[in-house]
Amino acid sequence: MKKLTIEDLDVKGKRVFLRVDFNVPLDEDRLVTDDSRIKAALPTIKYLLANGAKLILVSHLGRPKGKASDSLSLRPVAESLEEILEKKIVFSPTVIGPVAQTAIDCLSAGDCLLMENIRFFPEEEKNDSQFSKDLASLADLYVNDAFGTAHRAHASTEGIARYFDNSACGYLINKELEFLGRLASNPEQPYCAVIGGAKVKDKIGVITNLLDRVEDVLIGGGMAYTFLKVLGKNVGKSILDQEHLDLVESMFEKAKKLNKTIHLPVDHVVAEEFDNQSPVSIVEDNIPDEMMGLDIGPKTIENYLKVVSSAKTIFWNGPMGVFEMSNFQKGTFDIAKGLSESNAVTVVGGGDSVAAVNKANLGHSMSHISTGGGASLEFLEGKPLPGIEALADKG
Ligand code: AMP
Repeated sequence: MKKLTIEDLDVKGKRVFLRVDFNVPLDEDRLVTDDSRIKAALPTIKYLLANGAKLILVSHLGRPKGKASDSLSLRPVAESLEEILEKKIVFSPTVIGPVAQTAIDCLSAGDCLLMENIRFFPEEEKNDSQFSKDLASLADLYVNDAFGTAHRAHASTEGIARYFDNSACGYLINKELEFLGRLASNPEQPYCAVIGGAKVKDKIGVITNLLDRVEDVLIGGGMAYTFLKVLGKNVGKSILDQEHLDLVESMFEKAKKLNKTIHLPVDHVVAEEFDNQSPVSIVEDNIPDEMMGLDIGPKTIENYLKVVSSAKTIFWNGPMGVFEMSNFQKGTFDIAKGLSESNAVTVVGGGDSVAAVNKANLGHSMSHISTGGGASLEFLEGKPLPGIEALADKG
């Protein structure tokens, strides 16, 4: 079901509560070191301001666990936004209460206010209904553009939307729904999923569900060793998830039943220690007991790039190796390059794969880079995202 977008709302002179994802990295001096999340919200912010909204921006930052902390204040973000927008941003040090209310009452059409970190309130993550109601009373309209937290039912992402007849998504969520929706419902075949990273538990459900839609799954990263172990290979000292061997087995069974191909590494870049200084070598098939696999090897890269080059749709989540260390980054970067050169619809989701694509300067050649790792995985798994479900349906 399509959701209302900001263009469906009459925002002129209205107080608009816009939930954004300004969860940006800060350095020791509390300066924003990467403003891409702020920039990602700009189209929605600019549209609302240009159309005369009285804009109330609300976000979380980090994990303050329901307590106020100077180090996680959004004040530096207000300064950064002010510079980017070249416009005065009013900062409200509280969210509920007379100070916040007065700040809102003083807004004129086209003005913009940023509230303090919403996660300073324990009620936020508890999705407390009174807190949601209090937040809703601050505004006339609700817009959600925080895709990165759309899979969480929190007061400012889900609870609040219940108190508005017309709540809409911003441009960022709309774009995510367009691309991820295409992958979930009508992907052009052959569709291939490239899944890496270390946490089997986080990804196994996604792979199992994706098997209904994809032709091929390319597995890399630390999780590949749990898969190889299930197939009886020796994986040496490689990272292993003993607790989820049964889930991996059921996934293999489903793939077999559906006649889908799960591709696994056939060679590995190995070292004795999890350390860039540890001497590296390449081994095929079984990994010696004293070694650990830290990247996919050259034959695996070649195999994977063949599948990538003939795919029409590709989804990528998770690095192929320990790409943070120079000796173990080739697999991830070669796959990123393969995606960038393919003619397929390419969608990259998940913090580390997005970081790798950006580090390789290839972001511009992907069809879509998702702003939400967990949210994009849950969406593709077919799970409803509470922050989006709560918005009003179109038509
Ligand atoms: P995830 O959050 O599950 O996507 O995992 C990302 C992390 O997996 C990155 O920090 C990688 O360094 C790590 N990783 C990738 N390959 C391996 C590997 N072979 N052994 C250990 N960690 C890995």
